Amino acid sequence: MLTDYHTHTPLCHHAEGTPQEFVDQAISCNLSEYGISDHAPQSPEPFDDWRMTISDIPKYLEWIQEAKAYANNKIIVRSGLECDWLPGNESWIDQLSLLHHWDYLIGSIHYLENKWDFDNPKWIGRWNSSSPSEIDQIWTQYWDEYSRMAHSQLFDLLGHPDLIKKFSQRPTGDLRRFYEPTIQAIADSGSAIELNTAGLHKPCCEQYPSEQFLKLAAEANIPITITSDAHHPKEVARDFKEALDLIQGSNFKQLVKFEKRTKSFSAITRL
Ligand SMILES: [Zn+2]
Ligand SMILES: [Zn+2]
Repeated sequence: MLTDYHTHTPLCHHAEGTPQEFVDQAISCNLSEYGISDHAPQSPEPFDDWRMTISDIPKYLEWIQEAKAYANNKIIVRSGLECDWLPGNESWIDQLSLLHHWDYLIGSIHYLENKWDFDNPKWIGRWNSSSPSEIDQIWTQYWDEYSRMAHSQLFDLLGHPDLIKKFSQRPTGDLRRFYEPTIQAIADSGSAIELNTAGLHKPCCEQYPSEQFLKLAAEANIPITITSDAHHPKEVARDFKEALDLIQGSNFKQLVKFEKRTKSFSAITRL
């Protein structure tokens, strides 16, 4: 049975739906677990306009409670956060980890130097006017930061590993020069990665991460799970059939699950 651990709530200001609608969709997609992982607060506040604030946390925990109550025994509801990895953010992540007995924390990179939220569609012009050497530099910076995030060992699950390709701007040549050092860092850290299907609906038209990355990650025995990054109930478990094909084609043998920040594994079964 499949899980979907990367989903959002309206508390981040760019998602919609009720706990009941999300639970209903997860059940109708035959998931065994529905995990809630909204964009975590980030200090110093106000940080940006697409996340929860610290004062939202009680409402967030209520939202999770409502989902659990409605789910009853029909599906397991897990609680998490999608945290932002920023240089020097370690003690803030520690504080977030203590706000609740979370089932898992996702670590994601949405920001590079000078607080540049590179995956925000408002930057499409900057991306499109970047030279090949600038794209190369941005990719280098992204993957170096991703390795540092893995090394921190602060996260159970590392989010959308190649989000940097979102607007389809990729360096030329073999991309293994970016992937391999990061895959080594992830393998050393013991953290899991997600196959995030949201990328299929972005300009890159491809899940995060790429098939080449997935194959290398399977070789390195990195734990993996499939997620949708749903910002609407109808997006829960979206494209999971295709994702399963990719996971199996990449030679993964099992999927990882989380409970109270402890991993377990289950054999891959079809939807
Ligand atoms: Zn979001
Ligand atoms: Zn994200």
